[in-house]
Amino acid sequence: MDSIENKKVLVKTFGCQMNVADTERMIALMGEQGMTPTENPGEADLIIINGCSVRDKAVHKAVSYLGEQQILKRGPNAKNPVIALGGCVGQLDKGDVFKRAPYLDFVFGPDAIDQLPELVHRAQSGQRHFVQVEFDKTLAYSTRTKVHGAKAQAFVNIMKGCDKYCTYCIVPFTRGREKSRTIREVLDDLAGLVEKGVREVTLLGQNVNSFGKGNPNTDGYEPRELNNPIGKVGPRAGEENFPQLLYAIDRDPRLARLKRIRFTSSHPLDFSDELIACYAPAEKGGVAKLARHLHLPVQSGSNRVLTKMGRHHRIEHYIAQMKRLKELCPGIGLSTDLIVGFPTETEEEFQETIALLDAIEYDNIYAFAYSPRPGTRASRMEDDVPGEIKNRRLNELLAHQLRIAKKTYAARVGQVLEVLVEGIAKNQNLIPEGGAGRVWTGRTSCNRVVNFIDDSPRNHLGRFLAVRITGSTSLSLSGELVHDPHFAERGDDGVQYTSSYSTSEVAP
Ligand code: SF4
Repeated sequence: MDSIENKKVLVKTFGCQMNVADTERMIALMGEQGMTPTENPGEADLIIINGCSVRDKAVHKAVSYLGEQQILKRGPNAKNPVIALGGCVGQLDKGDVFKRAPYLDFVFGPDAIDQLPELVHRAQSGQRHFVQVEFDKTLAYSTRTKVHGAKAQAFVNIMKGCDKYCTYCIVPFTRGREKSRTIREVLDDLAGLVEKGVREVTLLGQNVNSFGKGNPNTDGYEPRELNNPIGKVGPRAGEENFPQLLYAIDRDPRLARLKRIRFTSSHPLDFSDELIACYAPAEKGGVAKLARHLHLPVQSGSNRVLTKMGRHHRIEHYIAQMKRLKELCPGIGLSTDLIVGFPTETEEEFQETIALLDAIEYDNIYAFAYSPRPGTRASRMEDDVPGEIKNRRLNELLAHQLRIAKKTYAARVGQVLEVLVEGIAKNQNLIPEGGAGRVWTGRTSCNRVVNFIDDSPRNHLGRFLAVRITGSTSLSLSGELVHDPHFAERGDDGVQYTSSYSTSEVAP
């Protein structure tokens, strides 16, 4: 590969939304060098595998995708692209993978993303098997979001790292200690994105609700201090905090055209009373732009298992905070992460997790059977729940959730909901035989997927539209476009959107 210009880059993403945001950044960085993105490995000059190491299965997926690419390096007519391994897999693996995959050119960690053009240049100049996984040792965290193309949605990193050290999790070792950007820097960053057409942002970090820890509140943002009956490890009085950031975004006149704020992920420790108050209606002091959705990982319904997981929160406190939130914001969409079959989990403790689903009535859960991650404290515990029991519990949990979601989704039929259109639906089956039009897909403020048919030639990508819900399953809603005066059709302010961010392969 002699020159980067007019070449193509493919980034294959596995894992969480942090990785999706990192992929966007990599594509934008290489775009600044003249590269254009492709989804076809056969035409790529640079292939980056942005891997996730949070679960065994995710690591295997990334490594097996890497294996599939070796064919591109072989033979006299092979395209011979530069191949790199990044993300948390790159951070952890360091250089071991070269023994198994000698065709791999280099490995890099999340803190080395901004050096990508230089790393590619080194590979292009003939260097091979080098590793760039140093953590950024500075205390401050400063960055600027890069997006490729015109998009209505953007992921914005506001903090990175994790100080929680749950016993099963490898993230604190792959992403380092918590560091937050300043509120002032995030606001400036968002102003630039809104100028480019972004109308919905997802604020990202491993624990966004501990945002601000260590940053002095020199601009005097409110609320000054946070109260949390579940527990607290985040910012102290006198430091910036997450509710301050939400209010500041809501009130910044440069962000008037921003319509929705989402965030992920968060931790029950630091899920403060002040953050709950942000979900109140705007006239009662809430944050008007805050989406009516919360993803708050709980992991288990059993206090004993939570203690073994090192989560430091009790289930009754979590349930109490969720009930308060639902009272303040009726119709809010809730989702969570759950692990079944953690070491020593009994049948009764698993049933406590089932009971938790009934108590909260989540819209969606991301559930996994426990698998030990090397290097974690839990990997030194005996993995004593047999595989078949883990799988049975997982299937029971998912089936139970589907029954709950069927009911909560059906309750939406007849309502008119505002949908931000994300693109043409992959599945066009909604169109009756012989019918015309295309099925579009989008999300409500409460994060429910809504599909609707439109037979006009209009491009709805990036528009906010009113949809009357006419049907439901356990996973999505369907409906028809309406012209409701309460919902202005928005997104028509001159921006021609080219794509939405990809949500495939992604769990929060
Ligand atoms: S809070 Fe726990 S599960 Fe989440 S990233 Fe930190 S250590 Fe991992």
